[in-house]
Amino acid sequence: FENRKNSCGPNIEIESEWIPFKAKIDAFMGQRTQWRAFPIVGGLNSETSDTHIINSPYDHSQNTGRIDWANKNVVTCAIDKAEAAFPEWNTKPASERAMCLDKMADLMEENYPELMALCHREAGKTIQDSIDEVREAVDFCRYYAQEARNQFEHPTTFKNYQGESKTIRLKGRGIFACISPWNFPLAIFTGQVVAALVSGNTVICKPAEQTSLIAYRAVQMLHEAGIPSDVLHFLPGDGATVGAPLTQDKRIAGVAFTGSTGTAQLINRTLAARGVAPVPVIAETGGQNAMIIDSTSLPEQVVRDAVRSAFASSGQRCSALRVMFVQADIADRVIPMIKGAMKEQSVGLPYLHSTDVGPVIDKKAQDMLLEHIEHMRSVGKLIAQSDLPDVANNGTFVAPTAFEIESIDQLTDEKFGPILHVVRYQAHDLDNIIDTINRSGFGLTMGVHSRNETTCARIAQRARVGNLYINRDQVGAVVGVQPFGGQGLSGTGPKAGGPHYLQRFAIEQYI
Ligand code: GLU
Repeated sequence: FENRKNSCGPNIEIESEWIPFKAKIDAFMGQRTQWRAFPIVGGLNSETSDTHIINSPYDHSQNTGRIDWANKNVVTCAIDKAEAAFPEWNTKPASERAMCLDKMADLMEENYPELMALCHREAGKTIQDSIDEVREAVDFCRYYAQEARNQFEHPTTFKNYQGESKTIRLKGRGIFACISPWNFPLAIFTGQVVAALVSGNTVICKPAEQTSLIAYRAVQMLHEAGIPSDVLHFLPGDGATVGAPLTQDKRIAGVAFTGSTGTAQLINRTLAARGVAPVPVIAETGGQNAMIIDSTSLPEQVVRDAVRSAFASSGQRCSALRVMFVQADIADRVIPMIKGAMKEQSVGLPYLHSTDVGPVIDKKAQDMLLEHIEHMRSVGKLIAQSDLPDVANNGTFVAPTAFEIESIDQLTDEKFGPILHVVRYQAHDLDNIIDTINRSGFGLTMGVHSRNETTCARIAQRARVGNLYINRDQVGAVVGVQPFGGQGLSGTGPKAGGPHYLQRFAIEQYI
């Protein structure tokens, strides 16, 4: 947490810092500010006739901007250029490539207010989430720049026992396709792209359809930061118009993807069907994340951490808490406290200081979540539902809701939103509980609340998850401090923001 504060961005708790900063954001918040974006190929806007309007999730009458989607010809043209640009980019010293990332970090900091306004208007992010979003994008740039200098700049040398010199050098693989989600429209987008670039690859990026405007601005800044125009191309569109032709092309040498498990499987099948050499897919996908709370835990701390883990960012994080297991001995103490905390949560317009939980991304997400809530009313027991304000009718809001259920087996798949499920367990059943969580096949985050070190160690040993958090919340991994990523249905690794991430974008050459 200390590290985040040291990184960058305003502190909303210091009024003298926040008020002038907020005025700068407000300059981008009016209806009159509308962004216009296009595919960028070879550094130029590629206008197409397939124009889409992006409205704000919190108010559908607010037009945030318009974006042209790419088409098959634009995709082919971008791949041709990226292929031609690869050899030169790949032979540049890593420190030169890393310099562009440092410059990108500076540019994002300079443009913090505009990027925050885009987080509000395009993604419906709250103030704190928007600050964290830009900060994480900046951190990815600085961290991967540093890692590239350390790992790529000089070859690793080996013992010279036969009078020969022996080295291993890391090099780029070719053209990387980066396909990113709407829930971290700047941070994950930027993280994937800069990791691929700094490792020596040329890049074609496809942002989520819902949040292409902020991604467009990021690509403009990357070019301004010195990434050559033929090295990075931007192709907005959906899976059918861009994702499919991109991953079907035999020249794509690797894919970085964050999104649903189903789409990751589709990408794997598409790449395999090309009938060329297998290439790496770096996938970060969904979760069915649990928190285990035993009778030695501190209820106030549990409630604070569970409520944040389940409902912050409207539950729209892969890492978010979905199923809370409470030891039966303390359940009647903890559950009413969760209910009380949920009544205090304020759901509302994301750009207001008082808002804890903003909208969900779009109507499709809202419908799916409301349907799940209806289903849970019949199979579970409602614990609490936060209140929705009147303005909620203008956008896609879902009230944070908690249900008590019998077993995690009642949940078939991940529900990406502010819905918490609570299960009571008996102390002697702990191993069994962990096994049922493992059986879901997902393995992203897990939270543990216990003051018993043996219990914590036992859970850590048995749980098949990528990130285990003890006596704290389980969201908001910090770049370079809490490397993030799961296993099984939750992804392939390596961990974003960790020391092994860049290596997967590279090949090793031994000389
Ligand atoms: N890294 C984020 C976190 O720790 C989650 C990323 C995601 O939702 O894809 O909360």
